[in-house]
Amino acid sequence: MKVLVAVKRVIDAFVKVRVKADQTGVETANVKMSMNPFDEIGVEEAVRLKEAGTASEIVAVSLGVAQCQETIRTALAMGADRGILVASDAELQPLAVAKLLQAVVEREQPDIVILGKQAIDDDSSQTGPMLAALLGWPQATFASKLVIADGRATVTREVDGGLETESLKLPVVMTTDLRLNEPRYASLPNIMKAKRKPIDVLTPDELGVDVTPRLEVLKVVEPPRRQAGVKLAGAAELVAKLRDEAGVL
Ligand code: AMP
Repeated sequence: MKVLVAVKRVIDAFVKVRVKADQTGVETANVKMSMNPFDEIGVEEAVRLKEAGTASEIVAVSLGVAQCQETIRTALAMGADRGILVASDAELQPLAVAKLLQAVVEREQPDIVILGKQAIDDDSSQTGPMLAALLGWPQATFASKLVIADGRATVTREVDGGLETESLKLPVVMTTDLRLNEPRYASLPNIMKAKRKPIDVLTPDELGVDVTPRLEVLKVVEPPRRQAGVKLAGAAELVAKLRDEAGVL
């Protein structure tokens, strides 16, 4: 069984994001970039499938600037077998990414494609569902458990008020939720080994995909600053404030 995992290069989750002065986007120059955390969970799940003998090959795919190779190398160090970079300096919006991934899937013919439930930079949560629609494949979003057996994926999803378990016929598109697993750190020997694993480079032109943006961002602004809190003497003062100032009692 072949697994394809999408790995996006995003601003590191622990970096404080700053909006550009002209409000056209966020500052990315000299900012630490890492793999999207939900994609780390995707790679981990793929590696566990391989360790369990269910998967035979893991292909990590990233789309974007040349530095996305570093993100692919991280996936290779975690246990992916090879990488594909779809190189583009253009802004790649979710529909363009989904179309590019569709073209890669048609070449690679995986049994399961794992994406993150959302990228922490654009928070779109669109790419996985769009890819499934373009391929005409079943999809399971926000997965917190995956079992593969007899040509089917049994996926548990976190829904309001409980868990939903679905059985889907392979091939499938799946997006990861936080509780699917805890990703491993790559060991030093595996980081060294990853340097020798192959990464193919393709372009949107070679894949025949027009990546022209369809959405226009009007402006990006910082959230309003939080007001400083106050220390209260006790419960009586809290109740008085809730009643007289907040008007919620
Ligand atoms: P989004 O729809 O932008 O929130 O992204 C959801 C998921 O799609 C991410 O967690 C990735 O798995 C995948 N994805 C989106 N953009 C890219 C990209 N440029 N390269 C690789 N994977 C991507």
